[in-house]
This record gives sequence, structure tokens and C-alpha cells, in this order.
Amino acid sequence: MKNVRVRIAPSPTGYPHIGTIYQAMFDFVFAKKYGGKFIVRIEDTDRNRFVEKAEEIIFNSLDWFGLKSDENPKIGGPYAPYRQSERLDIYKKYAFELVEKGHAYYCFCTKERLEKMRGDQETKKLPPMYDKTCLNLNKDQVEENLKNNIPYVIRMKVPENRKVVVLDTLAGEIGFNSSQIDHQVILKSDGFPTYHLAVVVDDYLMKVTHVFRGKEWLPSTPKHILLYEFLGWEDSIPTFIHLPVILNADGKGKLSKRLKTASVDYYKNMGFLPEAILNYLANIVWNHPEGKEIYPLMDLGLAFHEDPFRVDVTSSGPRFDLTKLEWMNGEYLRKMDDESLSKRLMEFLGSKYEGEVVKKLVPLTKERIKKFADFIPLTSFIFEEPKYDMEVLNKVKIESPKEILEEVIKTLDSLGKPWKVDAFEKTFRQLAEKLEIKVGDFFQLFRFAISGKLVTPPLFESIQILGEKETIDRIKKLVVISNRIGGETNG
Ligand code: GLU
Repeated sequence: MKNVRVRIAPSPTGYPHIGTIYQAMFDFVFAKKYGGKFIVRIEDTDRNRFVEKAEEIIFNSLDWFGLKSDENPKIGGPYAPYRQSERLDIYKKYAFELVEKGHAYYCFCTKERLEKMRGDQETKKLPPMYDKTCLNLNKDQVEENLKNNIPYVIRMKVPENRKVVVLDTLAGEIGFNSSQIDHQVILKSDGFPTYHLAVVVDDYLMKVTHVFRGKEWLPSTPKHILLYEFLGWEDSIPTFIHLPVILNADGKGKLSKRLKTASVDYYKNMGFLPEAILNYLANIVWNHPEGKEIYPLMDLGLAFHEDPFRVDVTSSGPRFDLTKLEWMNGEYLRKMDDESLSKRLMEFLGSKYEGEVVKKLVPLTKERIKKFADFIPLTSFIFEEPKYDMEVLNKVKIESPKEILEEVIKTLDSLGKPWKVDAFEKTFRQLAEKLEIKVGDFFQLFRFAISGKLVTPPLFESIQILGEKETIDRIKKLVVISNRIGGETNG
């Protein structure tokens, strides 16, 4: 395959949806496999939905996932500008060319008129479509309106009763009856194009060869096909691959934008690994030929077949299941060596965490975390003094914790320093026996004393990290607290 050029065309309307990444992943792998170019074009023509910092966030997200583009508004490229708001003259030129050729027309309908029309259609249960009022304006009327500065939009003129064929790589050939295609606005009254005109003009001028995008765009594609024809570009219609839309975990509906888990930001904040997310996204739509679940991103290239062109993805709705993604992320973490894991974890935690301590904790926590955020509650007692909740202590089945803890302190004091924690297990089992309490309960009390919790990484290794003084201080503190509480209850 030669001169492959693919693009994503995100709109800067907020945090990028995980669906944008899913799409970008296909583009990236496809371009890499065939030595092509991956373009990011910013579709910022909808000024009502424009969000100031969104473009920057899109690029940060793509960077985070390692989905590097070859041409984009930041680095430019041979078909710059790549931001649609900087290409307005180009769209205008083609919009007027379409009017000229009789494939588009001026529409002077007011907002009020259109609203009324919509309302009537709704009552009659008709599909919302422009009623073509301005299609019949004659040249003089148009000129008169233009002279009087009456605001206008430009609409595409869709021929009646024609079959418009969309060729989709996944869905095959789909025929649309042109009479059901709306006379879509292509240029708005503010001089901005709509998506439909801009996407066709840009994909053509930027020599895009393959369009990977969500299936929700399939109904728009016949409009695009018509515009390609009207502009005389039918030989340059790209190959369409309308990818199945990612659904919620229950399979009901598209992964909602409103869910926090739809936004890339959530995964960054929770400390997921971008490579695990991409692997997961590939998995929900594609089966690896070797039956693998975990594989490097470029294996997804095996989904593309050249002659005849085919993309092996499931057409049914892939479900986004956070629990499975967490599982996969955990698998990635466990596969990493401690050194790399510590490095990545430190990047997540930031400089307020001491690197050496984190490093020591990694082997102790690796099996117990699914994402980096899990590390924080699991190890917080190492970095800050525990808060003792006596209700938690009450769950430990030991009648007089204070006396037992005092025995622990005595034993610890008697041990030679530095402590050899390897021997702790034996020493403290013996102590539990001597005190005639169950070993399990005893260790729970010990654990609570150093951490304020009943679940922690392995006890003695944690003690080693805490150090001798801190360990004894904490146990002493708990003795004092339980004494006080004991005193209060007795009184
Ligand atoms: N701006 C559209 C989006 O936000 C692009 C659709 C397309 O790829 O053609 O998804």
C-alpha cells in the first residue's frame, strides 16, 4: 500500500473521549505498518462547543499514549494549516464554487422560521429536514437579499431519488436514497463551514487515503460522497472504515461522554498504563490470531490485510468494561521488572514521594495493585503517621491489646540492632504462643499498631522500611491511646 495518509479530526470540545484514542490507535498502527503518515487535524468550526484548552489536552493525551503524529497544527506539515478555523477562506471558496455549479444554494430562512418548521415536522412525526424553501428563489431574489445584507447560510442541493452508495470496508456497500438526505448547511452565517464541507475539503486537500472513524458517522457519509462528486473529486474518495462504536459495559448505549471513565484524564489520574489501555481497546474489537490477550501495540497491524483490503474487527458493539481493563493493567504491572515499575510509579506519584522508599515498596505491593493509584492507600502508613481508629482495633480478637503490645515492645527492645526481620516470623510466633493468643490475631494487632490498618503489604518487610525507631514509637503511641481509652471506659 502506497502513500497511506490517515487522520483523526477531533473537535476541541473538552477532554478527549477514550473513543478518540481508540480511533487514533487504528490510524497510528495503520500508518506505521504501511510507512504512511498520521495526521491530527483540529476541527474547531463549532464555535459554540469550543473549549479553550481542549486542543492542548488532546495533544497531551496523544503524547501520553505515544500516538505520535507526523503532521498537526503544532508541528505543521505540507498541507498546513491543520486547524480548521485557520482555513476558512478555503472552505468559502469551495462553498461558492458549489453554488456556482448549481450544487448548493443560498438560504435566507430565519431561525424562527426554521424552528417553526422543525416543530411542525415533529408534530407530524416527519424526519427533521430542511423544506427547501430557498431552493426555489430566483437569481434576482437572491441578489436582492444579498444586497440588503440579509444573513444567509449555504446549503447543499441534494438531487432527488438517486441511490448514493457508500462503500465501507466493514459494512460493505450501503445504498442511501438521496431523497432522504437533508439539504445540509455547508457554510454557516458566521462564515464557518459545517463539519460536512470541511471534512470533505480537508480530506481531499490533505490527500487522506483511509478514514477510520466511528460508525456514528456512517449516516453522514452519503452527504460526503455527494460533495466529492459535486466538486469533481470522485476519484479521490478515501476508503472508509467505520469502526464499531464503544458501548458501556452493560452493552446499552454508547460509552457516555458524561461518565468519568470515558475521559482520558481519568486513566491518567488513576495511574493506568497507556500501553495497557491501548491493548485493551484493541482486544475489545479484535482477536489476536495467536489467541494472545497481551501483546504490543503494533501486533494490531495484523488486523489489516492488503489485497483485497480488509480490516479484521468485530462489527458488533465492543463493550468497555473497566474491571477487565483493570485486570489487564494489573497484568502489565506484574510483567514489569521492579526497576521500571518503580520509575513509572514515581512519575505518577511525583516528587513528594521519596524514590528510595518507593523502590523498596514496589516488590511488596506489585501483586496487590491494579493501577498506580492503588499504591497510595496501601502504603500511606509508610509515609505518614497512622490514625488509629479504635473500631478497627475492636475487630482484632484480642482482649487486652495494651498488655500484648507492651510485650511486643519488650521483645523488640531486646533484639540486637540492626533488626534482622527474617527472624521476626519465628520470634513473634513464639511470643504469641507464650502469651497464649492466636498467631493470626497477634499479627493483626501488630499490623494495626504500625499502620492503623488490617490490610497492608507484608508486615515484617514493612517494618524494615519503617525502621526501628519509628516502629517502636508507633507501638508505644498505640499503647498510650489504648490506655487512655481503656481508662475512659473503665471510669
Ligand atoms: N470532528 C469529528 C469528530 O469529532 C470527526 C469525524 C471524522 O473523523 O470524520 O469525531
